[in-house]
Formats: sequence, C-alpha cells, structure tokens
Amino acid sequence: MKRHRRSHYFSPAVQYTACHECDWIMVVPPLQPGEQAVCPRCEHKIRSLPTQARLQPMIYSITALIMLFCSNFFPFLGMAVKGIHQDMTLYQTATTLLEEQHPALALTVYLFMQILPAICLMLICLIYSRLGHWRGKRLRKRYTLWLFRLIPWCMVEVFLIGVLVSLIKIASLADIELGYSFWAYVLFSLSMLKAFSAIDRDWLWLHQSGPVHLRQSPIPSGRAIDQNLTLCHACHGLVSLKNRHCPRCHTVLHARKPNSLQWTLALLFTAAVLYVPANILPIMVTESLGQQTYSTILGGIVLLWDMGSYPVALIIFIASILVPIVKMLAIIWLCWSVYTNREHHRRGRTRLYRLTEFIGRWSMVDVFVVAILAALIRMGKLMSVYPGTAALAFAGVVVLTMLSAMSFDPRLLWDNEADTTQPESKGASDSVE
Ligand SMILES: [Zn+2]
Ligand SMILES: [Zn+2]
Repeated sequence: MKRHRRSHYFSPAVQYTACHECDWIMVVPPLQPGEQAVCPRCEHKIRSLPTQARLQPMIYSITALIMLFCSNFFPFLGMAVKGIHQDMTLYQTATTLLEEQHPALALTVYLFMQILPAICLMLICLIYSRLGHWRGKRLRKRYTLWLFRLIPWCMVEVFLIGVLVSLIKIASLADIELGYSFWAYVLFSLSMLKAFSAIDRDWLWLHQSGPVHLRQSPIPSGRAIDQNLTLCHACHGLVSLKNRHCPRCHTVLHARKPNSLQWTLALLFTAAVLYVPANILPIMVTESLGQQTYSTILGGIVLLWDMGSYPVALIIFIASILVPIVKMLAIIWLCWSVYTNREHHRRGRTRLYRLTEFIGRWSMVDVFVVAILAALIRMGKLMSVYPGTAALAFAGVVVLTMLSAMSFDPRLLWDNEADTTQPESKGASDSVE
C-alpha cells in the first residue's frame, strides 16, 4: 500500500510488532524519510520514521508553557455595546462558571483547556530533560505513561474553535476586540501541537528502556494472541502473555481489553441517558433589557439559522447534534457486529472505529461557547449570558462517549468468536535490556 513515496509491509527481519487494531504480527523494516509502515490487514499506521529530536519537544513545550502563562494576564476578548466596554480574561471562562454555581462545569472547562495541556507540556520537559540518565528512570517511565494517557484530553484546538464560534455569534450584536491573551493562546496552541507531533512513543520507550526481547521469534502473518503474544497498549512493545505485567513499562497485560463490550455499552448508555436532559434543559440563558430567554441546543441552532448565521448554525448542529448521535449509533453498530461475529467489511468497520475516536472531542465546542459567552457578556440587565444546566449534562455526554470509544477493543472486530478466548500459556517470558 502506497503512502507518500512508498511503504513496507514485510522485508528482511528487523523488528517484530503487532497491529494495535487487528493484532496481526508483522516485521517492520528500517524506514526512510517519507515512508510509513502500514498494517496489511486493517491499514492502521504502524509507524513512520522515528522522531529522534530531543531538543525540539522541549523547546516547543517551554514556548507553549510561557505563552499559556502570558495568556492569563492580559484581556482575552473585549466587546462594546452602546458605549459600554467589557473585557474578559482567559481564566474568567472558568471563574464565571464558578460564580454562577456551576463548579463541575468550571472544572471541566479549565481542565481541558489549561490544566491538562499544562501538565502534558511539563511532563514532556521532565521526560526529555532527563533522557539518557539512569537516575529517576522509574519515575520517568511513569511520566511517559501518564503523558500518553492525558494527551487525548487536551482540547486546546477545540476551545479555539469555540472562541471563533462565539465571536461570530456576537459579532452582529457588539464590536469585538481581540486582546493580547488571545494571540498568546493561539501561539500556545500551535506550540503545543508542534510539541505533541515532535514526540515519538516508540522511540521514547526504546531509548529509555531498550527493546523487549522475546525468547522465541514470532511468526509473522498471524494473530499475536495465537502465539501467546500481545502488543502492550502503553509502550507498544510486543510481549509474551506469560508475563502478567509488561517487562518494559509494568502495565498490566491483556490479550484483549477485559470486558470491552460491557464497558463500552455501559458508558454509552449512561451517555445516552444524559443526552436527554442535555437537549431538553436550557444550555444558555440570555438576559436582554431585563428579559430572560432560555435556549436549548436545538433552539439555539434554529435561532442562529433564522438570524442568517448559516455557517455557525451548521458548525453547532454538526458538533452538538450530529456527531454525538452518529458516534453513539456507530459504537452500538460496532458492538453489535462483534457480538454477532460479523465477518464482512472488517476494514470498513475499523475505519468507522477510528472516525468515532477522532470526532468525539469536537462536540465540546458548544460547552466552550457557553463558557466564553458567559464570561464575556456580563452587562447586567442590558445584556448578560448565563450557563444552563444542560451544559454540564452535555459535557458529560462528550466525556462518556469518549471513554466508551476508548473502552472498545478494535481487535475484536477481527476475531472469530472461538478465537477470542486466551490460549493456554506456552510462550516464554520476555526481558528488557
Ligand atoms: Zn491491523
Ligand atoms: Zn509496556
């Protein structure tokens, strides 16, 4: 399969690995710049040329942290209506929610847009600054595990889209000013994305803990589970299932995620239950000249459409209505196809799984829009926006559907029902250099 210039499937043995999404064992040859190793069975990208730069992730992370620090000390957005000027700072997106008695929502917003990204950036600095040092190796392993666990929860780019949607929403009502903090936050998000793209999980584990040595060479072109092997989901090392814990990162090993379907469906149904109040209750309360208007997600979209803001109405409709429903239906369909042991279109269903994992976080846009508008529009009875109860319920829907997609094991799509049980232990244990 061609990707960029060319990509390899099998060639003289260099490094064994198993596909994260279909459990297929393969040999990955040395890659050249522009090449990618792709799974021949499900087309999952196995790896590209490792990013070996040590300084780059640190430089981008430090730049991002400085920009994040700066973005909290100047006005973020400003608006003027009938001669009255109002500014908001970045941290007010959370503190206003706190003042309005929505502590859980304030924590959710602040966690995803500032705290978790800051923790990830600090972890990158800690890991890369001590690379090659033997002292503190155990702690560094923990940092690396946590870094890759937290990265999916950094929603900086989603927050920026939320800012843009908010700006378009109020552009017809007031004059808008972008403060210094806004530009600092844009630079922070760009540097953060560069830092994340500069880190390479495989190289990092290989560099700090060495390769995992298998006592017997695996046979390529078969399932890892049939050879009593598994790919460690944390460090991506191919390890024997005879070990209870990964010899490299000490994560508990499983051939398949335990009770994957049960967890996926339980989280999904909880999300579906929360989706009802998220749509029935008001997500935002607008006060204009002393008159309060309660708007639900759908009501807000209809209002935007009537006002002629078609692109914003479409963005909110896709993010808040279409994505959660499509995602929930897709996960149910995936679980059903595993349960009924469906054999056809496995590659298509794996692509659908990747899509559900990718789109889930973008639904958070509407929650961020509510937080930004509530922090910015605070002019008493003249014009004010308050968060509604549905905002927290909707944030819950997004988090639960994300957790549900993460609980699903895509390797089940490629298993026959009889093969999903773990075979009897027969392999030798592995060691790390
Ligand atoms: Zn695969
Ligand atoms: Zn591991």
